[in-house]
Amino acid sequence: MRIKNKPAPTAAEKRHIERVAAMDCVVCGAAGPSEVHEPEQGLWFASMPLCPACHRGPEGWHGTRLRWTLRRINELQAINKTHEGLNA
Ligand SMILES: [Zn+2]
Ligand SMILES: [Zn+2]
Repeated sequence: MRIKNKPAPTAAEKRHIERVAAMDCVVCGAAGPSEVHEPEQGLWFASMPLCPACHRGPEGWHGTRLRWTLRRINELQAINKTHEGLNA
């Protein structure tokens, strides 16, 4: 999902993105590989692994966020959980 004028990830960012993508969905636990969501464009080190439903689905982050609400998790908690997983 490259957008025009979006800078390409650096080598270090790419390595991090690959590690995050290999993880299970941080919201519902669906088995990875996952999609990688950035809270803001280019904030790759704050990115998180999400399954398609929790990411782009109608009840995902870019939709109504119902899947997030039901599991009582917000974006900051998801970032924290991602780092917990990366350092496990
Ligand atoms: Zn999910
Ligand atoms: Zn996203």
